[in-house]
Amino acid sequence: MPELPEVEVLARHLRPLLRGKSIRAVDVRREKVLRPTSLQRFQRGLVGAKFTGLSRRGKYLLFELRSGISGKPITLLGHLGMTGRMFLAEKNEKPPKHAAVIFDLGRENFIYEDTRYFGRLTLELSAVEKLGPEPLDIKFSPKNFAEILKRSRQSIKVKLLDQSLVAGVGNIYASEALFRAKISPKLAANKLTFTQIKNLWRAIRDVLADAIDCGSTVPLNFHAGKTDGLFYFGRASGAPDFYEERLRVYDRAGKPCVNCRRPVKRIIQAARSTFYCPHCQKA
Ligand SMILES: [Zn+2]
Repeated sequence: MPELPEVEVLARHLRPLLRGKSIRAVDVRREKVLRPTSLQRFQRGLVGAKFTGLSRRGKYLLFELRSGISGKPITLLGHLGMTGRMFLAEKNEKPPKHAAVIFDLGRENFIYEDTRYFGRLTLELSAVEKLGPEPLDIKFSPKNFAEILKRSRQSIKVKLLDQSLVAGVGNIYASEALFRAKISPKLAANKLTFTQIKNLWRAIRDVLADAIDCGSTVPLNFHAGKTDGLFYFGRASGAPDFYEERLRVYDRAGKPCVNCRRPVKRIIQAARSTFYCPHCQKA
């Protein structure tokens, strides 16, 4: 499942490829992904529009366009859900079976593909308005992080997944950050000391920045029939070894902890897997 670093790498990859390109036609094959925007509004708003920019907020992609009719700016919000991919393909390539939306850009198509259709491509922007600060932004400080944690009795691992606390930390990097900060995932959020909060703040930033750096080195070859090497951490995806090995606890249950060699443990918190080292993450 793509998290903040994967979405950031994708945004950096797509930005120069889309800039200046105009949408000639929109082929929506799964109307569900547009919700709550109607098919009619989606097509009317986007046909003729030109891509001007692309940024990321949390795990969302924000495509900036300029209307071909009114010249007004339009924002298109994208989310990859569990299995979504977005890529450009040559016009003569057959679109994948699970293509949800295809934008005709002239010589190329810009394709949003999603085998499970949990993602979104919509003109409705309310989802990003509720997000907490960007973890790599200056507005995310140990002080305001502490303020929010103080008010929660949820376990820290579960609280980290709350997108209104900090945007973009998902299941993988929550486990990784807690391991780096040597904090038990089971500790109640309001029980963390300020030193622990500072360590966790630093660990979140480090783990995400490292993942962006690492992901930026992975070639994003999204063309039909090839694996992309970036999304899906599963072994079957063809992800390069170094990319998976970067993860110190995630998906390593029973394997030796990289610090103490004792086995990494898997537990379930709020119906999601948590991976941690009970020896290194006691407090
Ligand atoms: Zn350990």
